[in-house]
Amino acid sequence: MDNEQIIEEFLENLAIFSARETENCIICQLPVKVLKQIGRCVYAYPCGCRLWQGKIPEAWKKPPSPMAGEREDEKTMYQSRLFMEG
Ligand SMILES: [Zn+2]
Repeated sequence: MDNEQIIEEFLENLAIFSARETENCIICQLPVKVLKQIGRCVYAYPCGCRLWQGKIPEAWKKPPSPMAGEREDEKTMYQSRLFMEG
């Protein structure tokens, strides 16, 4: 077994996952819907794996379907801002 290679692969997967280029859990490979911060650790749901100690990456703070959800939010915010400025 080549431990260095395993670690390297794991770190690479971690980087890809953090950037949300994949939504498959780095531990069990099941699709992840949401990350949760519990204490100092970050857990994947629904699978429940503990991923790492630290924080939830920016890419994972967005709603599950960034394409549809986010655009709608931006539009609504923009419109309400226009409305407020009057
Ligand atoms: Zn998992």
